[in-house]
Amino acid sequence: MVTALVIGAGVAGPVAAMALQRAGIRATLVDAAPGPADDIGAFLTLQVNGIAALRAVEADGAVDGCGFPTRSMRLRSGSGKLLGEISTGEALADGTVAITLRRADLYRALCDEALHRGIAVEHGRRLTDARTEPDGGVLAEFADGSTATADLLVGADGIRSRVRRIIDPGAVPARYVPLLNIGGYAPPQDTGAAPGDYEMVFGKRAFFGSLVAPDGAVWWFANPPRRDEPARGELAAMTTSQWRSWLLELFAPDRSPACSIIRSTPGELVGWTTYDLPSVRTWHRDRMIVIGDAAHATSPASGQGASMAIEDAVELARCLRDHPEPGVAFAVYEQLRRSRVEKVVAAGARLSNSKVAGPAGRMLRDALMPLLLSRTGGQAQPWLHEYHIDWDAPVDIGGTACSPGRGRASMP
Ligand SMILES: Cc1cc2nc3c(=O)[nH]c(=O)nc-3n(C[C@H](O)[C@H](O)[C@H](O)COP(=O)(O)OP(=O)(O)OC[C@H]3O[C@@H](n4cnc5c(N)ncnc54)[C@H](O)[C@@H]3O)c2cc1C
Repeated sequence: MVTALVIGAGVAGPVAAMALQRAGIRATLVDAAPGPADDIGAFLTLQVNGIAALRAVEADGAVDGCGFPTRSMRLRSGSGKLLGEISTGEALADGTVAITLRRADLYRALCDEALHRGIAVEHGRRLTDARTEPDGGVLAEFADGSTATADLLVGADGIRSRVRRIIDPGAVPARYVPLLNIGGYAPPQDTGAAPGDYEMVFGKRAFFGSLVAPDGAVWWFANPPRRDEPARGELAAMTTSQWRSWLLELFAPDRSPACSIIRSTPGELVGWTTYDLPSVRTWHRDRMIVIGDAAHATSPASGQGASMAIEDAVELARCLRDHPEPGVAFAVYEQLRRSRVEKVVAAGARLSNSKVAGPAGRMLRDALMPLLLSRTGGQAQPWLHEYHIDWDAPVDIGGTACSPGRGRASMP
């Protein structure tokens, strides 16, 4: 049986392992973290296209009950003016809409589902290097001195991917996006928003987003602008009280619930920097490939990073199912995916820029946004959300279908 080492048990990794299993490839999932994380970077929204991709490998049930439905986003200016409302995407046929959930819960649910399906998951193993063996297989080396071999190596190891640099030592590093991220969970309070739906405020000095969970708690995030990349350790050195005072100062001029939400948030406040990866020139070499954030990280503003990672994982497995020669499968996969994911990254960068507009840009944005949104009727972009993968369909690029009947993946 063909074997694969999947590096990274975040979002792309567990889904890739499950999809590969369906394609007849035995995958082992390896992650550097000592165990499934309990608290990793706030929350995210899994869009309908991401849920549909999970459904293609019958794994959407894994996230049932992990979060809550999120149907729309209301956008306001700092003065409180309603700029418009956007849907998070057309509901799936059974009424399923996007869900918002804690990142740790998503990682854990996907990992548990992979384990449940008999996939080996090994935490505490950091990949340090990998090379192609004379027989064509891959030898992977880990920080603890151990090694592993497999027919294929899939790098689902995130934006700081080691696999990306193994494939192409000259790969461009992630690009700094001039926005910081911080968020938290505040006790129940009246924010004026309908439960489950985002309330986004393009404030005079910073961007603020919040939504009310079913238990009434307010989940929020803020994007303070920061032109230059902070020095290593600078944000980690900021205390909760420093963050709180700065955020209160940033949101003081706005007519929004931001200040009361921030003031009432208990616990530690921790901020982090934002990066994206607009175009990684080499996704694969020999029998190694990168997927998810390792290949094309988008700014969180797009709200699509996790969904793209899931789509990648499923599409890669379909390509390997339909093309027994990995080089061909990887090339077909890249043809299927590159333009879509780079379009998402570009859209995310534009959205991030709109959050850091100067006074003139703000005026223009606040005047034009209602017109643009009314033209689309508040509908999300179909090209983005209506991407539904049919697992059983042969992979089709530009009308050239490859029959799944050509056999399960096998190595020469
Ligand atoms: C603030 C913020 C908000 C976001 N909001 C959204 C949102 O609303 N919607 C959305 O879809 N996306 C959102 N995203 C993006 C989303 O979280 C990522 O796109 C997604 O997690 C990518 O999945 P991945 O599996 O490719 O990488 P990751 O989730 O980063 O997983 C990578 C895994 O690889 C492991 N790893 C790394 N290096 C090694 C190594 N050398 N050896 C072994 N293991 C290794 C890591 O421990 C990690 O578990 C947001 C991101 C941020 C930062």
